[in-house]
Amino acid sequence: MTHLVNDPVDFSAELVDGFIQANSRYVRPVYGGVVRSTQSKAGKVAIVTGGGLGHYPGFMGWVGPGLVDGAVTGKVFASPAASQVHSVAKAADHGGGIMLAFLNYSGDMLQFGMAAELLKADGFDVRSAAVTDDVASAPIEESAKRRGIAGGLAVLKVTSAAAEAGRSLDEVEAVCNNANARTRTCGIAFSGCTLPGSAEPLFEVTPGKMAVGLGVHGEPGIYETDLGTADDVAQLLVEKLMDEVPEGAGKRVVALLNGLGSAKYEELFVTFTSVTSKLRAAGIEIVDGQVGEFMTSLDMGGLSLTLLWLDDELEDLWFAPCDSAAYSRPAPLDPPLDASVTFNTEPEPLTVARRGSDGSRAAAQQIAAALGAITDVLGVNESMLGDLDAVAGDGDHGAGMARGSAAAAEAAAQLAAEGAGAQTTLAGAGARWTEHSGGASGALWGAALTAAGNSLGDDRDVDAAAQVAAIRAFVDSMMNLGGAQVGDKTIVDALVPFADAFASAIDGGASFTDAWRRASAAADEAAAGTSALVPRMGRARVLGDRSVGSPDPGAISFVLTVNAAVASD
Ligand code: ADP
Ligand code: MG
Repeated sequence: MTHLVNDPVDFSAELVDGFIQANSRYVRPVYGGVVRSTQSKAGKVAIVTGGGLGHYPGFMGWVGPGLVDGAVTGKVFASPAASQVHSVAKAADHGGGIMLAFLNYSGDMLQFGMAAELLKADGFDVRSAAVTDDVASAPIEESAKRRGIAGGLAVLKVTSAAAEAGRSLDEVEAVCNNANARTRTCGIAFSGCTLPGSAEPLFEVTPGKMAVGLGVHGEPGIYETDLGTADDVAQLLVEKLMDEVPEGAGKRVVALLNGLGSAKYEELFVTFTSVTSKLRAAGIEIVDGQVGEFMTSLDMGGLSLTLLWLDDELEDLWFAPCDSAAYSRPAPLDPPLDASVTFNTEPEPLTVARRGSDGSRAAAQQIAAALGAITDVLGVNESMLGDLDAVAGDGDHGAGMARGSAAAAEAAAQLAAEGAGAQTTLAGAGARWTEHSGGASGALWGAALTAAGNSLGDDRDVDAAAQVAAIRAFVDSMMNLGGAQVGDKTIVDALVPFADAFASAIDGGASFTDAWRRASAAADEAAAGTSALVPRMGRARVLGDRSVGSPDPGAISFVLTVNAAVASD
């Protein structure tokens, strides 16, 4: 669905107008489209492209130095008229001849073909080339019948670079044809696209299926098959393209993963991970990767994979600098890092620098056991905590606590088994909790566990006084880091009564277990009491009133953890 429309009749003209207004540093309007607003070298071959609208960044997004000289704009999914191509090409001319390069659709072929005749009549030296990268649209023997899709960018990029480098029209034409012969694309769609102002999509894909071999004008795919995972989609696209490696192609490619309109960048990157591993497994070297939207089809859901099979000339041309509204490749501003410079891509491994004292190691064992029990309880309550967080927050509290505690428990078990004392064990657990949970609560829990560990040290017995001090350190850390006070409707509301009750029970001579039980009961009551409060801290603050009547998720999860910890004792 296209949501923002004035009069649908004006949609095409208004979108071109808006583009020009946003990009006057690159383009100027001319009848039929846009041409560069910058000075180009005299005698340079002019590259003119275009087609219907609805494919942004194709084609007007590519007008600029190092890329194309002019783009004919047409209307949404409708070829421009020959007179418009003629007008744009004349305005784009720099005296070096004109190369018309467009996608292979019959309307575009006819209009650009007619325009070529008009230009010849004017005395211009003109060449034409149609991009035919879409492997699904005709068998290889009839490759001249294939449609042009996202590979258009690859072909235009290198062709334009040749023109920019001052090559002759003959040479530029040869680069264009070579690039086209070495560019292959395959696409899939999982939802159709809708013309502006229209309520119905041009085609629909059965939910859970994907259309293989779609066109970019709302043409449905050649066949439907199960959608599967991102990895399955990557497998299919790579297989189709590896079935058709151009003759003499070598092993070096530019891989371009193109979103068709409503595939998200995140999904594209996930899919690209699979694409690269499958290409590498096939012995292909990815010299450059491009992930983004290069040739869209309004709001179509789907993507396409293009491979440009490089030779030395195309590789140089591919990396030549260019600058346009939608596609830029600046000359490198800095040299690349030396290959010998390496970075850790994994978190630092947890190690036990020194063995804890006997008493501290015993405490570390108990801490590890408690974290194991906490993990179990948080796992069971994950969705309940998520639901509580969804009332006024983002619904991730359960998942964050489950992930964080599981990673912390694993770290603590490892460290305790290796002879760590309480401090090292809690510091490792805290680090892993924060890394794995994400979110505000993860940072608070990680810091608080670390602070409690710092209070206990690695060399001291953990007696009652040390326990009281460690719990205080835990509370102080959360309050200092988070800035919340009692009454703000956060974990602090359960934490402070817990610490107070624990300290007074120990003062009164209670055993650790008894003191912990009394403290847990106090926390439980206080957490339940947060229902009446309006949150003043954290994400829930923004939609605060909504949460009145339900307790703070962080306070509730704290109660679960302290109950679980004592149960493990
Ligand atoms: P996020 O808000 O980042 O999604 P979570 O959903 O994991 O994090 O945790 C939300 C809980 O974190 C809240 O219910 C609250 O108890 C606690 N919290 C958030 N901000 C603070 C803060 N500044 N101080 C103390 N606790 C906080
Ligand atoms: Mg949350």
